[in-house]
Amino acid sequence: MPIRGVIFDVDDTLFDYSGSEQAGILAHLHHLDLLHRAPDPQSAVTLWREVMREQYARFLAGELTFAGQQRERARQFLARLGEDTTTMPDETAAAWFAGYTAHRNAAWTAFPDAAPTLAALAPTHRLGIVSNAPIDQQRPKLHATGLLHHFDDTALVGSDRPGEAKPDPAIFRTGCARLGLPPHEVAYVGDNYDLDALGARNAGLHPFWLDRTATRTAPVDDGIHVLHTLTALPAALHA
Ligand SMILES: [Mg+2]
Repeated sequence: MPIRGVIFDVDDTLFDYSGSEQAGILAHLHHLDLLHRAPDPQSAVTLWREVMREQYARFLAGELTFAGQQRERARQFLARLGEDTTTMPDETAAAWFAGYTAHRNAAWTAFPDAAPTLAALAPTHRLGIVSNAPIDQQRPKLHATGLLHHFDDTALVGSDRPGEAKPDPAIFRTGCARLGLPPHEVAYVGDNYDLDALGARNAGLHPFWLDRTATRTAPVDDGIHVLHTLTALPAALHA
């Protein structure tokens, strides 16, 4: 059975989330003259990512709203830089996060292999998105980086409701249904091994794991195809 549809993850698959995140937090700290509070810039970035993972997990678990996890990230990060944020009002935390967002968005960029790959697939495959962020957060990234026109709006699926997220098979199957295809005719491409590759496989799709840095030393599980660039995807779909 040929693969007739391809669904993509957004962050760190099509869109260089890590790069814009790093540039954004460093510019924000520089602007606020807070960079000297961290031992060095790389430690500040590492700490920011650590806090993000903790608080975003709480959002995915339905414990915090999307805006709530943003405010909590601001509070926790500043607390670990030595500020007392226990009584920081919501508005202050939200404004701090908005400052970060502005710097991060100024650094938004897609990976150079994203646009050519989507253009190569568009004539022959139905294209979709399944992301663990709300789709209203992801649509502007795809638009700003010139990728949005490759997707019908109905083919954009985000984790808009708490608890409905990868690796739950339901969100992958929603993505397939939006393309009008059964899971076994759809490939899923993402950078996160557990959420994307294993999640897609367990939902019955063809999983393509994007390992841009080729850092994994352990063997991959049965049925998982490994890509190091998106450029290799069109040929891999036919293999
Ligand atoms: Mg990702």
